[in-house]
Amino acid sequence: MTRFIFITGGVVSSLGKGLGSAALGALLQARGYKVRLCKLDPYLNVDPGTMSPFQHGEVYVTDDGAETDLDLGHYERFTGNPATQNDNTTTGRIYTEVLAKERRGDYLGATVQVIPHVTDEIKDFIREKDGTADFVLCEIGGTVGDIESLPFMEAIRQFGNEMGRERALFIHVTLLPYIPAAGELKTKPTQHSVKELMGMGIRPRILLCRADREIAEDELRKIALFCNIDENKVIPALDVSSIYEVPLSYHKEGLDTQVLDAFGIHDAKEPDLSSWEEVVRRVKEPEGSVKIAIVGKYTNLTDSYKSLNEALIHGGIANNVKVKLKFVESTIFDGDNDDITHELQGVNGILVPGGFGVRGAEGKIKAAKYAREKNIPYFGICFGLQMAILEAARNLCGITDATSSEFEEQQGELLIGLMTEWTKGNATEVRRQDEDLGGTMRLGAYPCNLKNGSKVAEIYGKNDISERHRHRYEVNINFKDQLEENGFVFSGLSPDGGLPEICERNDHPWFIGVQFHPELKSKPFDPHPLFVSFIKAAIEQGRLV
Ligand code: GLN
Repeated sequence: MTRFIFITGGVVSSLGKGLGSAALGALLQARGYKVRLCKLDPYLNVDPGTMSPFQHGEVYVTDDGAETDLDLGHYERFTGNPATQNDNTTTGRIYTEVLAKERRGDYLGATVQVIPHVTDEIKDFIREKDGTADFVLCEIGGTVGDIESLPFMEAIRQFGNEMGRERALFIHVTLLPYIPAAGELKTKPTQHSVKELMGMGIRPRILLCRADREIAEDELRKIALFCNIDENKVIPALDVSSIYEVPLSYHKEGLDTQVLDAFGIHDAKEPDLSSWEEVVRRVKEPEGSVKIAIVGKYTNLTDSYKSLNEALIHGGIANNVKVKLKFVESTIFDGDNDDITHELQGVNGILVPGGFGVRGAEGKIKAAKYAREKNIPYFGICFGLQMAILEAARNLCGITDATSSEFEEQQGELLIGLMTEWTKGNATEVRRQDEDLGGTMRLGAYPCNLKNGSKVAEIYGKNDISERHRHRYEVNINFKDQLEENGFVFSGLSPDGGLPEICERNDHPWFIGVQFHPELKSKPFDPHPLFVSFIKAAIEQGRLV
């Protein structure tokens, strides 16, 4: 029997609902249950693919090519279960379905309304998960009281009623702000937020209270009394220094025990949390540190590189070191500002992550040049590979006007171009320059064959890999010979040999560019081999200087 857990948030946004959901998933999994996590996002975009990282943080891509909310990344990293297209929906997607049905005449002449048509569509999205796991955890994006989330709240209210208390549970995550003048944590916003939920017919049975300090017993009792919740189900969720500590901390406070209790389950086995304890020990007791520069464009917002930051931490965990990140804003090196040296001096590794558009590109090209010439480990991811190729073409192959069709002027040699056709399995996929931006990229998992004897084949320990993509442009295979004559080995290719997936330098300690996003598949217990190897090379670099 599948049980459904709905997680809502109140008081403020950025409460860590996604992490909390992922942590609860991990705890139930550690008790031997099969879990599935999904996210309902109330915004109107059909998916977050067209949203700026400034607005919404990273776009997380699944194996099946969905562009999803970054919380799905937390779900995958915490449970190891690959997320899919069907684990995230938005108001935009729900309405797209409803309107398509209306046009097809599926509603048989009915007046199409939010209740029941939109709410039914939302309930269908939830109900299709029935039977796929012991626990389905559904996080509702946004904050209780938002206009956009009303249909979702109504849908989960109805769903909860239909399932009954034995099969549906509402958890509400709130904040207890500390007011220095009063010297205490305040419970009133939590009371109001629960009242708001109750007004919508949803009665939370567990409260997860975020606070930056210990919550006194009588405060917890007060919340329980005013919010009509069992005392032991008001759970403190205090700040911790590493996100990987969250499952351990929530378990200590009794979250998973109370969730099971709410469902009337009293014979569950204790969770095995040893792997979490080991991860936290390694994060907290590193044997050294390395400094990695990330040369990118959205560096003032760490959410835009969420998976990347985590993958680097995983690489550190595997090597027992702390990875210190230095974010370098590449746009300041556009134009004549040449001196990237003072930003990159003293770092043990340089990483140019995924990116879009000409702004900031020159700075990234300068970073690739600096890494190549100074023998500093270089990891180019997607755009970071493309910029390393432009750098080599311009400075080593003598193609001084090497450029990408992504850059508007497009007058030079197109080393990076728009592929209009490629194969996926047996099917041919096509994209056109003038298509809508939404969903026209090479997205999701694609296979890649590694060259025998190459550095990447050694790192992966196998020759056939599959990695996730999210990009429009490709390295132009026609320049392969010229680049190979100048030290770039095309060490990973699509199975038909037409698309370069990995390029590495044969005259450098560690210089690898990949067209895909390896960071999306890295987990704390199963760090991605490229990140493990990159951090190892950075440690080595630190020893040499
Ligand atoms: N802008 C580049 C492209 O579309 C790279 C995208 C990325 O780095 N994810 O091909």
